[in-house]
Amino acid sequence: MFVDIAKIHLKAGNGGNGAVSFHREKYVAAGGPDGGDGGKGGNIIFKADDNLSTLADFRYKRKYCAENGANGGASRCSGKKAPDLVISVPKGTLVKDTETGRIIADISDDEQIVIAKGGNGGWGNMHFATATRQVPRFAKNGNPGEELDVTLELKLLADVGLIGFPNVGKSTLISVVSEAKPKIANYHFTTLTPVLGVVRMGEGSSFVMADIPGLIEGAGEGVGLGHEFLRHVERCRMLLHVIDVSGSEGRDPIEDFIKINKELAVFSEELKDRPQIVVGNKCDLIEDEKLEEIKKYFEDKGYEFFPVMAAIAEGTDKLIGSVAAHLAKLPAIKKYTAEPKPVVDYTVKTKRPFNIRACDGVFFVEDAPWLLDVMNNVDPDDYESLQYFERVLRSSGIIDALVNAGVKEGDTVSVYDVEFDYVP
Ligand code: GDP
Ligand code: MG
Repeated sequence: MFVDIAKIHLKAGNGGNGAVSFHREKYVAAGGPDGGDGGKGGNIIFKADDNLSTLADFRYKRKYCAENGANGGASRCSGKKAPDLVISVPKGTLVKDTETGRIIADISDDEQIVIAKGGNGGWGNMHFATATRQVPRFAKNGNPGEELDVTLELKLLADVGLIGFPNVGKSTLISVVSEAKPKIANYHFTTLTPVLGVVRMGEGSSFVMADIPGLIEGAGEGVGLGHEFLRHVERCRMLLHVIDVSGSEGRDPIEDFIKINKELAVFSEELKDRPQIVVGNKCDLIEDEKLEEIKKYFEDKGYEFFPVMAAIAEGTDKLIGSVAAHLAKLPAIKKYTAEPKPVVDYTVKTKRPFNIRACDGVFFVEDAPWLLDVMNNVDPDDYESLQYFERVLRSSGIIDALVNAGVKEGDTVSVYDVEFDYVP
């Protein structure tokens, strides 16, 4: 079965905790703090793999966790950084945030993209010795790794897409012009998964053609097979619209052509205007006068029309030559740009859990991964930004909780990577 959409859960590794430890040596009475830092948690990275063509693997495994960083140790030993988890997907896979539908990345070239960031390790107590606090009995916990649900959506990367009703000869055409060997048979929907073929033009020039499973009526509104597969022509730079000129199945090729273009228009405004060449297949089954009529119909409408007999590769060279000439003038295959993360107002957001841990006059605000998001957007040099941060701390109840925990003016408050003095 062809799988081109999948929902999975990602959890990047947490940072390791910093260590609390004191230097010990024979004859040395009280050594200083020497607890090392925690290691960074593993990222979750996506990369394209040319050998993959479906998202089938993701139907069976839906949770992906990168390892946590190791905790820091005594004697200034840092915890080990966790390895990144690299997930391979077929070229052309979009990664979307399941909750918002936002495009996070388009994995369509060789760039590896971090989708979930591992948390930084926490500092060991060796960092916290000060003139007034020589025996810090605390260290920082590591930051949590990012966690999110993503939807993977495969949108094939092809220069040319073949469209047309079932049985008109699309699979036959791709099999004679490229090395692709799709199933060819005289019944409907033989092509259930898109097939990509490389069409070589000699002298190193080539392009990719995609055989998309037969479109059917109502495809644009999501009836039946069609809709899912229209997704795969979305990126094609041009379309070859194949018709069976002989109407060998009792259908009218021109009506078919109009129907499919309607479907395309319903699916997407952009697809409707994608350049199209009309391929009149099965010319062996039709008289010349009838063929002339059909040809004239399309040419009057401004389409290029190529009569072919795909089964014996008759007329296909000329067709491919014209396709190549068009492609030379058309823009490159569309790449989707990542959409920015929506700005959340954390002064009003409802779910804002946290915990306070007090130790040696330092108050740690923990178990609040949402605060990482806030702090990523807070600019410490900007007054308004800091005011926002304070409003978040107040409205979420953190300030009250600090006061309940006994915070006094001048005490240190530690929120993940940020530290500040408490001012009532
Ligand atoms: P698809 O469903 O559009 O992919 O169509 P196929 O490529 O599977 O072809 C459907 C049927 O049409 C097969 O039986 C082919 O052998 C036949 N066919 C393809 N090209 C020609 C042609 O040029 N002439 C004739 N007579 N039959 C053809
Ligand atoms: Mg086919």
